Amino acid sequence: MTPGGREREKMTDVSIAPCASYDRAEVKRALRQVLEPLGGLDWVREGMTVAVKANLVAALRPEKAATTHPAMLAALTELLRERGARVVIGDSPGGVFNIIYVNRVYAAAGLKEAEEAGAELNRDFTEKQSANPEGRVLKELTYTAWLDQADAIIDFCKLKAHGMMGMSGAAKNMFGVVPGTMKPEYHFRFPDHEDFADMIVDLDERFRPRLCLADAVIGMEGNGPTAGTPRMLGFVAAAESPHRLDQVCAGILGLEEDAVPTLRAAKRRGLIPPSAAQLTVSGDPAAFVARGFRHVAETRSLLFAGDGKNPFLRVFSAFAGKALRTKPKVAKAECVGCGVCRNTCPAKAVTIVRGKAVIDRSACIRCFCCQEFCPRGAMKVHRTLLARVAGRV
Ligand code: SF4
Ligand code: SF4
Repeated sequence: MTPGGREREKMTDVSIAPCASYDRAEVKRALRQVLEPLGGLDWVREGMTVAVKANLVAALRPEKAATTHPAMLAALTELLRERGARVVIGDSPGGVFNIIYVNRVYAAAGLKEAEEAGAELNRDFTEKQSANPEGRVLKELTYTAWLDQADAIIDFCKLKAHGMMGMSGAAKNMFGVVPGTMKPEYHFRFPDHEDFADMIVDLDERFRPRLCLADAVIGMEGNGPTAGTPRMLGFVAAAESPHRLDQVCAGILGLEEDAVPTLRAAKRRGLIPPSAAQLTVSGDPAAFVARGFRHVAETRSLLFAGDGKNPFLRVFSAFAGKALRTKPKVAKAECVGCGVCRNTCPAKAVTIVRGKAVIDRSACIRCFCCQEFCPRGAMKVHRTLLARVAGRV
């Protein structure tokens, strides 16, 4: 890295740049622009293996806006290869982590384009177990071993609304290091949203991506992270810290920072400042604010227990917490009774009755796996009337 690059890197927490389309030349220009304030790719050395952890959540075409766009991955591959790096792109989608299923995901997500640009698509499907003594809640983990061959990891997320975590950005993207079939087990191990977010932050800390990038040219709003609506956002963002990147992106999406559990967890650990306003941002986030972005985050604005000593406020806060909670809800007209939600549910809270999914609310841990993997988008995130009203105050 050049001395100038090092200085710039210290000065910039998050960089943001316009990107008008997925035209390859435009994407490459935008990536160069967004990386420049962070010192470019000067840290990449000849012969280095760089693992690009994309978001390849399911076998969905790029137009669905659920996966990192192949033009982004191809352009990044070209930039890395110009510096002499070997590039391996991968992820563990929801479902079995094997060659047949993952090849289907690669094909649907259009990754041939990245392959043609010189990237290898990961075909190492081994899993590893490891102790994680530094973890706050995740003291041991099972992960996809392909990441071990990398000299550096780039976390390349897709910016989306997310049923459980409010938003899917750079921090949540690292949950893809967990093999697909084990993900429901992780949900079951960490049913509380705060613990689940702490687990995600433990993964971020354990794998420490060297660089985080967000594909926010076309993001997803509404019933994300797989069945929402594509939404033009028009930018790419970059940072060293996944949490700082998410903190700026949350503001662009109109999310209260405290409505995003991973941001709350990162704040508790001092990984991000109390407000995005305290970050040094290169570029103008205000120019990309997505007005009216439809998200499904839980509102926190009615949750106040004061210092915890006032019994009325404590009771009110507990009531408000329940009343504001989002829940999965089956849109009966759209449900075809395929049973994917039943098979995915870690709490065994779903049954199929007369060809439609039915949720046992007393067993549901609100992990939203059913909503994430419903192939028909029939499982919705339901916000109560109070939550919808509170979201506007
Ligand atoms: S996965 Fe979706 S379509 Fe299939 S049974 Fe569940 S709710 Fe219905
Ligand atoms: S019903 Fe859905 S949200 Fe509830 S525990 Fe099962 S998968 Fe999770």
